[in-house]
Amino acid sequence: MFRTFLCCSGLFMSLFVQAQQWDFTLHKHKSVQPGPTLLVIGGIQGDEPGGFNAASLLVTDYVIHSGEVWVVPNLNFESIIKRSRGVHGDMNRKFKGIRQNDPEFKLVEKIKSIIKDEQVDIILNLHDGSGFYRPRYVDKLRGPQRWGQSLIIDQTELDGVRYGRLDSIARIITQQANLRIKNKEHRYHIKNTETRSGNVEMEKTLTYYAIQNGKAAFGIEASKSFGTHYRAYYHLQLIESFMQYLGINYERDMELSIKTVKNRIDNNVKLALYERKMFFDMRNVRDRLRYVPMKKGEPLTISGSNPLIAVLDNKRYYNVRYGNRSVTKLLPQYFDFDSSIDSISLSVDGVTKQVMLGDIVAVDKRFQVNQLDGYRVNIIGFTKKGYASEHGLPISKRDIKSKFSVDKHGKLFRVEIYKKNQFCGMVLVDFGDKPVASAETTKLNSVF
Ligand SMILES: [Zn+2]
Repeated sequence: MFRTFLCCSGLFMSLFVQAQQWDFTLHKHKSVQPGPTLLVIGGIQGDEPGGFNAASLLVTDYVIHSGEVWVVPNLNFESIIKRSRGVHGDMNRKFKGIRQNDPEFKLVEKIKSIIKDEQVDIILNLHDGSGFYRPRYVDKLRGPQRWGQSLIIDQTELDGVRYGRLDSIARIITQQANLRIKNKEHRYHIKNTETRSGNVEMEKTLTYYAIQNGKAAFGIEASKSFGTHYRAYYHLQLIESFMQYLGINYERDMELSIKTVKNRIDNNVKLALYERKMFFDMRNVRDRLRYVPMKKGEPLTISGSNPLIAVLDNKRYYNVRYGNRSVTKLLPQYFDFDSSIDSISLSVDGVTKQVMLGDIVAVDKRFQVNQLDGYRVNIIGFTKKGYASEHGLPISKRDIKSKFSVDKHGKLFRVEIYKKNQFCGMVLVDFGDKPVASAETTKLNSVF
């Protein structure tokens, strides 16, 4: 599926971490039709990627037509990025009491106030749990001691609260969701932790905090026996069942299947630098990108295509992280920036077009940067003797050294524009949009 990120709505402010200032983001899907408000929280523990990836997809791929859906996809962002259950201990045990000097004090207080917001009707806390919960012992992996594929409630009912019939709602939700889950082993069961009758551990959790503040709350667990995309898929099934139950009308950009969920999680990694003077598609990106132009003496500003992207300042380079994954390292070269132009003229396969700096252009056979007086064009990986500026030259893929590509497949190349020693911006040319057949043809040709 083709998605364009030309509009700003496709990019989210991502976290740039210079000092240890981690914060989560709250994304509000509003609508014109009034209705209930669902709050979905992902990533309270950093090593449960099914939950936070599902929440991230809920932010990027859903539109809400009635009611509201609020999403916090990255509650414990530091632990997500550092791939730890909890860098500062288990955040889901800090809701009964927390020390003022706890590094997560502010985060916990902030999410508490969102939970208590009078507009919020139901709260879902997304987890990845071990094995498969079953009310009765089956074997080591399946039984009351396990958490996976369950919908968690703290008690049967919450008196005097709209949607307070937790157990009967959980029955409706699991029944609905299970209709769509073909594999019987994967179906959801309800787990009641009976928190108030002496479950000391569960008393410290986010959902119990919500319950005590008069809010209907549920924990959703996907099984850690599955891969991340499988877990995220099941989370979305449950979230959709809740939206249907609440009468929240929604639309999504993707078909809900394991394959599409995997594709979106793996490939939706794009990063804009400096208000999109540069824009990188980081699908199959190389482990490091060298000589990335950065502003002298000014902090890096970034935005990413989803809320799980963070860039960490490592002094000599920048680490691009996405959820639990390490994406690439950016090795900077520092410049003053020039903003006297925001687009350049390109001829692409014989068609002349004006291209914004920060865009990606698909090229089939060749492209050429047209006359650009007063500026210098640098196509990374291309050199021609006697040309200080590489404009006015038709260039095909074989003219560029593939080891200079942004991606590992040698298809995505940087075209950088400079004015004297100042950096103006970058366009990416993408030789990768060709059908697979032509690559095969090339292979056959070389054989014969
Ligand atoms: Zn968990």
